[in-house]
Formats: sequence, C-alpha cells, structure tokens
Amino acid sequence: MPTLYDRALVWDAHSCLPLVPDADVSLLARHKAAGIDHVSINIGMDMTPLETVIRTTARFRDWIRRHPEDYALAGSVAEIRAAKAAGRLAVGFDLEGALPLMGDLAMVGLYHDLGVRQIHFAYNRNNPAAGGCHDQDIPLPAFGRALVAEINRIGMLLDCSHTGHRSSLDIMAASTRPVVFSHANPRALVDHPRNITDEQIRACAATGGVVGINGISLFLGDAKSETVARHIDHVAQLVGAAHAGIGLDFLFAPDVDDAPPGRDRDYWWPPEAGYGSAHSAIALVQPEQLPELAEILLRRGYAEADVLGILGGNFLRAAEAAWG
Ligand SMILES: [Zn+2]
Repeated sequence: MPTLYDRALVWDAHSCLPLVPDADVSLLARHKAAGIDHVSINIGMDMTPLETVIRTTARFRDWIRRHPEDYALAGSVAEIRAAKAAGRLAVGFDLEGALPLMGDLAMVGLYHDLGVRQIHFAYNRNNPAAGGCHDQDIPLPAFGRALVAEINRIGMLLDCSHTGHRSSLDIMAASTRPVVFSHANPRALVDHPRNITDEQIRACAATGGVVGINGISLFLGDAKSETVARHIDHVAQLVGAAHAGIGLDFLFAPDVDDAPPGRDRDYWWPPEAGYGSAHSAIALVQPEQLPELAEILLRRGYAEADVLGILGGNFLRAAEAAWG
C-alpha cells in the first residue's frame, strides 16, 4: 500500500542549480528520485548579470525539453498535476530579486513567458524595488508598489524571502493575491536576520500564503528532519498547518562557484550575519529526508490532510490563486 508520502504532491518551493551556462541540470534527478513532484529553480539573484540570467535560463529550458520522459517545464497547476500523473518532475523558475528587471515593469511579462512563476524584490540588500533583510529597514519604494500591482496582474507568486521587514509587510498589505515566503524560517526559533518574525508569518497567512521552511543549517539550527518539523510546528501553531510548506533551498552543486566576476561577497552575505567563507561549511537538509519528515509529522499528531498540505498542497493552493 502506498505511503502518505507516495500519494502526496510534493512541492519544493525553492532550490538552486549553479547559475552557469554549462550547469549540470541532470542533478535534478536527486529531487525526482526523492519523490518530489514540483521544484522551483532559481534563475538569478540581484547580483547576477542579465546575460547570465538569460543564458542560464536558456540552458535549463533546453535541457528539460530534451528530457521529456522524466522532466517537464510547468507554468500552471494543471501542468504540475499532469507531470505528476506521468511520473515527471515539474520544474518552474523563480527570480531572487528585482534588479534583473532593469527597473522596467514590462520585464515582468517577459520573465513570465520564460517560465518564472515566483519572484522576490530584494536579495538581502536594499534596491529600488524593496528593502533587503541585511540592510536598513525601509518601507516599500514607489517602484516596488508598482511591481506588486504588475505581478498580481500577470500572475506570479510574490515571495518575501530575503526581503526587509517593513518592505515585506508593505508587499503583503498591498497584494491582492497570496504572498509566500518560499524559503524562510521562524526567527522565534533561530534568531537570524534572514529569518522572519511572527508578525511576518501572520501577515503572510492573512494573504492566504505559505511559509516554506528551508534546510540551511545557518537558519534552521542543524540539518535534521526533526528540526524541520519543529519549524513547521511553530508556523502551524501560530497560523495553522494550511500555511506551512517546504522550500529546501537545496544546493545541487555547492562546490560550483557561480559568483559573477567582481562580486563583493561580504556585501551580499555579511560576515557578521554568520555566513561562512564557503558554502561547504553549511549543512543542508537532503531531499531524501522528506519521507522521514512526513513520518515525523504524522507521529507528532498532524492529520493526514495537514501533512499532505505541508508537503505540497498548501503551495499548490497559493500558486493556483496567484497564477490564475
Ligand atoms: Zn534564497
């Protein structure tokens, strides 16, 4: 008899292939083998040059189209369900920051056409669209307000991960559709500026959104499945299990250096916030831990329907409302 995990539509709201034109996209097989049904892959961050964003996106799209037996580009809930039914891993794209929009609202529609279905406005540092979580806490600027309206209109998930506190609250107040934190953990459990306050979690739930717990030890405490369950528990007890999910932030190739030339690492990842000099110093929750996480949640007394939601149903619901 299939387990609850086998039956679930499993959704990883954010993970990272290296942002290089010759990236080994076949590393996605880890997610497929682990029973994940949909993953959102990052195609760029605020520090990523536009040329790299475009070439990386071309590489990802081309590779996925050449492997139709096992993978599918998916931009709608119907396509994600169809991919699962056919035993394929559905892949969508996300953008970590608004700088690759070049200050032009018309770029939102272009990225949508390229498969981007989730976007945040700022990556750790302030920019003309929003405040970042490792910078001065500013209200949402005028360009950010216009961006909320355009993203609502086009139909993408607004994502407040990496965003500053005030800007994130302003985005959630302004949006007419669900806003998510695709990969952000409760600050009540690990006091790190990249983690989010209970006020932010409540505001996210009020939009109909979901908080995806990430598997980065710096933000989680360690990389144990039990610890992921504790973070899910915090969100569920605060706003209900319907607003908890998973955004592993799994680095498929942590040893590949995809830093753009001349990037100031300490600017984007301030050393005083505990970012090590190498990704290898950080432990990651592995995709293969997700079946164990499902078992832990059931043992903790979660109803089967709640576990199905946490594994993916909640993000599916938010995406359907945001993309429709
Ligand atoms: Zn991120």
